[in-house]
Amino acid sequence: MVSLYLHIPFCEVKCGYCDFYSLPRGHEDWDLQTEYVRALSDEIDSRCPTGIPFGHRTPVQTIFFGGGTPSLLKPSLMEELLKKLADYFVWDQTAEVTFEANPKTVSVERFKDFRSLGFNRVSVGIQSFNDSFLKVLGRYHAAADGIQAIQDAKQAGFENINLDLIFGLPGQTVKDWESDLQQATQLETPHISAYNLTIEEGTPFAKLYPKTKPALLPIEEDQIRMFEKTREFLAEKGLQAYEISNFARPGSECRHNKNYWEYGEYFGFGVSAASFVAGRRRTNIRDLKKYLAGGWEGSTETISPKQAMGEFLFLGLRLTEGISVRCFQELFGESLFKVYGATLDKFISKGSLALQGDRLTLTPQGLLLANELFVEFV
Ligand code: SF4
Repeated sequence: MVSLYLHIPFCEVKCGYCDFYSLPRGHEDWDLQTEYVRALSDEIDSRCPTGIPFGHRTPVQTIFFGGGTPSLLKPSLMEELLKKLADYFVWDQTAEVTFEANPKTVSVERFKDFRSLGFNRVSVGIQSFNDSFLKVLGRYHAAADGIQAIQDAKQAGFENINLDLIFGLPGQTVKDWESDLQQATQLETPHISAYNLTIEEGTPFAKLYPKTKPALLPIEEDQIRMFEKTREFLAEKGLQAYEISNFARPGSECRHNKNYWEYGEYFGFGVSAASFVAGRRRTNIRDLKKYLAGGWEGSTETISPKQAMGEFLFLGLRLTEGISVRCFQELFGESLFKVYGATLDKFISKGSLALQGDRLTLTPQGLLLANELFVEFV
């Protein structure tokens, strides 16, 4: 399966915890948006005819406009980008075509415009339904705007809606988080993503909440309780965990993200976008000025077989269904147990991994230790 990703780097403000390549620019700056869309189109034109293995009319199953805040983009510019993609790729109505949106950048009209362009899925950055925590995060919107955005998306005809939440916020209690989950499920979206706040190096949060002062964040026991509560509560509401941080009603799992976790190929365009094709990972430059000037090349890495095996494992184990032992053998021509026997034995005997038939999965205990465990594979 091949997926396409387009990066739109504009945001209204820069949130304190964010380490995506995004800039507080482009909000109603139509000249900058136009310039960026032209640069993106040039990149697509220049890469696609010679792209390996992509040539003309390659079929794709998912397209994802991420950011940044793609919903800031003028619909006519979004249309221009979709038309450009259609010069090289083909997709039909069964394809999943997603854009990310933030409250306050959308309205029923804006959603309708995007819907008429062929978008059939929207992912809304809500993060919290509590105004004080939204302030802590440095978000541009209030809780009421988040609720309104979901209602507007529905009114415009979107059924496939994701709602993004974050827990483990400074000052947050388990009760606060339960209240967020309660409000989220009342909106009845078929998909919810719930991430534990990560303090990323180089962000304002890294200075505000340094590792040397862990007391500023909820204690570890509370963060674990929030994580477990999320799974229990959402399952009761019919949203099963299909990945560590992602929950969906049956059939509403995000196909685009599943392709990443299943180690599928994807082609990314735009500033900072990454591609993974034919065993090579290419990441575009993280500099808007240079990108606009046509210098989009960043870095290229050829993934060694050993590295690929580790990536296949740590991505696949994020999924509730885990990985297929047979699939590993078919992909890499080696037995999973021959390559990772000692590590697998250790984690299976400790109760962090489980092997049932062909599937290797994380146990509930393994879920809590996932990052430590993944390090061993890469
Ligand atoms: S809206 Fe999203 S992409 Fe933009 S700064 Fe905030 S977290 Fe980052």
